[in-house]
Amino acid sequence: MSRFDVAVIGGGMVGASVAVGFAKQGRKVVVVEGTAPEKFSPEQPMDIRVSAISQHSVDILSELGAWHATSQMRVCPYRRLETWEHPECRTRFHSDELGMERLGFIVENRLIQLGLWAQFTHYSNISLRCPDTLSDIEFGEVSKVTLSSGEELLVDLVVGADGANSKVRDLAGIGVTAWDYRQHCMLINVKTEIEQQDITWQQFTPSGPRSFLPLCGNQGSLVWYDSPKRIRQLCAMTPAQLREEVLTYFPAELGDIEVLQYGSFPLTRRHAQRYSALGCVLVGDSAHTINPLAGQGVNLGFKDVEALLAATQNHEVLTQSLLEQYERNRRYDNLLMQSGMDFFYKGFSNDFAPLKLLRNAALKVAENAGPLKTQVLKYALGLK
Ligand SMILES: Cc1cc2nc3c(=O)[nH]c(=O)nc-3n(C[C@H](O)[C@H](O)[C@H](O)COP(=O)(O)OP(=O)(O)OC[C@H]3O[C@@H](n4cnc5c(N)ncnc54)[C@H](O)[C@@H]3O)c2cc1C
Repeated sequence: MSRFDVAVIGGGMVGASVAVGFAKQGRKVVVVEGTAPEKFSPEQPMDIRVSAISQHSVDILSELGAWHATSQMRVCPYRRLETWEHPECRTRFHSDELGMERLGFIVENRLIQLGLWAQFTHYSNISLRCPDTLSDIEFGEVSKVTLSSGEELLVDLVVGADGANSKVRDLAGIGVTAWDYRQHCMLINVKTEIEQQDITWQQFTPSGPRSFLPLCGNQGSLVWYDSPKRIRQLCAMTPAQLREEVLTYFPAELGDIEVLQYGSFPLTRRHAQRYSALGCVLVGDSAHTINPLAGQGVNLGFKDVEALLAATQNHEVLTQSLLEQYERNRRYDNLLMQSGMDFFYKGFSNDFAPLKLLRNAALKVAENAGPLKTQVLKYALGLK
């Protein structure tokens, strides 16, 4: 039976980061992942799953040695961010306000993952089991992890990086607090008549926000939040029909488009009641999922990784108290971001006239709020 210091279950963006970080600390790590990411080639169409990555996340990925490989594939910097409901009441942010070259990047999730997986080959102390999945864990001083292939691993620490429906979390008996937004969101990759853009924008409407994220070349990712019924109806349309709907319901800023591909996702908010138990610890979406409204999900996951690595650095034995220190560091920040997103989402997703007036006034005030506006932007970008 193979013996490891750490078994990371899930080799997505967050799990792969933890694995590289623990390997850098000199620990013997095994990563278990069900599906290998497809290799990159420049002629591939853009993936539907993309993330807005903050500069802070880029710094974390750089520290892990992974950003260079990702940036050599396909990344789209963005410098401006704009949000509004009534077109006359807009809040605008620009990277110049922070003296930064950019606010962040829009990157396909798979390319972040591939940048991290490229690091696996640089560490002789990382082993990969892929394709394979977690089957069971017998928790103890040393835990026995059984994989679907039948292989058994002995490990000191199990890291649950297996996403929103985490099996590690279930096996450890960690409950979740969950909310169902009764909304779905649709991601639509489009070709735009407007050339390469450096702005991401979002318009609030009573049925849900409509967002634009720039992609490389004259492409973009649209996010359409609406009722599950409406999203199902949109998903059943042909690209030509969907284009008509988008042109009708998205703001004029978008210009003309060609629909390339689309898919939909339910919106859920979950928060694990504990981040660690029985010699396992949760990071990323296995610990918390958030409304994707402001593109914070994986950025919070990378901050988890940073905090877990900081708590365990210089400690040979990975004790429960170190894991609790990690949780103390992260729980409040994750909860604050979840609640902040909900406040915006609920506050804007209705047609109640007085509230409508108030929120548009708030956006107008925010536009002129000077240092406060800069602080909000800094917080959203994960900057101190
Ligand atoms: C529509 C939408 C838009 C979003 N936009 C943004 C954005 O702009 N910015 C942002 O920061 N975040 C965004 N997010 C959130 C972001 O996608 C997630 O936070 C991020 O993917 C979480 O990464 P993760 O590695 O924790 O989990 P996941 O990406 O879910 O990865 C989990 C991995 O574990 C593997 N796995 C699962 N179970 C097992 C098992 N039993 N055994 C082995 N392997 C297993 C899976 O195959 C997968 O590779 C968005 C989310 C959605 C739904």
